[in-house]
Amino acid sequence: MKHILVVATGGTIASVPAESGLHPGLTGRELVALVPQAADVCNVDVVQPMNIDSSNMRPSDWLRIARVIEDSYGDYDGFVVMHGTDTMAYTAAALSYLIQGSPKPIVLTGSQQPMAAPFTDAKLNLYDSLLYASDDASSDVCIVFAGKVIAGTRARKQRTMSFNAFVSCNYPELAYVRGRRIVRPAGLSARTSQEPTFYHHLDDRVVALKLTPGFNPAIFEVLMPGCSAVVLETFGIGGIPEYADHSFENTVSAWLHSGRKLVLTTQVPEEGLDLGVYEVGRAYANRPGILRGGDMSIEALVAKTMWALGQATDVAEVDRLFYKTVNHDRLE
Ligand code: ASP
Repeated sequence: MKHILVVATGGTIASVPAESGLHPGLTGRELVALVPQAADVCNVDVVQPMNIDSSNMRPSDWLRIARVIEDSYGDYDGFVVMHGTDTMAYTAAALSYLIQGSPKPIVLTGSQQPMAAPFTDAKLNLYDSLLYASDDASSDVCIVFAGKVIAGTRARKQRTMSFNAFVSCNYPELAYVRGRRIVRPAGLSARTSQEPTFYHHLDDRVVALKLTPGFNPAIFEVLMPGCSAVVLETFGIGGIPEYADHSFENTVSAWLHSGRKLVLTTQVPEEGLDLGVYEVGRAYANRPGILRGGDMSIEALVAKTMWALGQATDVAEVDRLFYKTVNHDRLE
């Protein structure tokens, strides 16, 4: 039987009601005990590096989770990280960059309803995750949720209440869990490597902004002191304002001349960015310091920028790391 390490971090799955609102109160061990069917699938050990609502998850916590997995990597066949759904897509992306090419599966899961709620999705999500993590053909970082398996760099929380909370952005689901069977569309999720590469540094001075009509570029000046990169959600396929007073271009130029990065993406949920289409935006297509998000999710862009800047300061090396495809994160 496979040996799986469950890394319990909190979230709704572990939450209990209180007058102040739902908050994580059950331990990972208690949660696994509430799914006795897991014993038919694999042997489970549990570690609990934290027990928090995922709204409180920070890049330093991503590094902690990655370190827990690295330290026990040789002792287990796979890993299941129980996590709040609100920021699960960010953590899944961050783990995809911190642990690359893992031949062993690293599955994130959670639930929309607490494990102890009468109509919970927690039991099936945990069971499905253990099943997927125990399967010989599984590898790399992914989310297993509501019967879907989504690459760790492609997930987005799309619904606040429905059990079907996550979608896969601009990329097909890797697999589906149906009862005790895993259905894998042909050609996807083949094992990529023999040995994982672990990384230990992130630059957490990355901020995401969204353009709105009349957006005041002075925000870039405010951000300068504590920020090394902005991920900017542009309009449509890549629309960026050209105000008559040139305030937008001038502020962005000052930002780039200071050595900071500007990562451009779109605020439209599907199909990605192309800065070459419209006059507004084309000037930014090939400027040094600008990184084009392509069809990547905002969650993956934030995590990848932190990872790339955490590994290198050399401009060419940051660009190389950023544009390298990792765990299906962007189309080549
Ligand atoms: N607030 C919770 C969390 O992200 C929501 C959930 O887990 O569904 O920790």
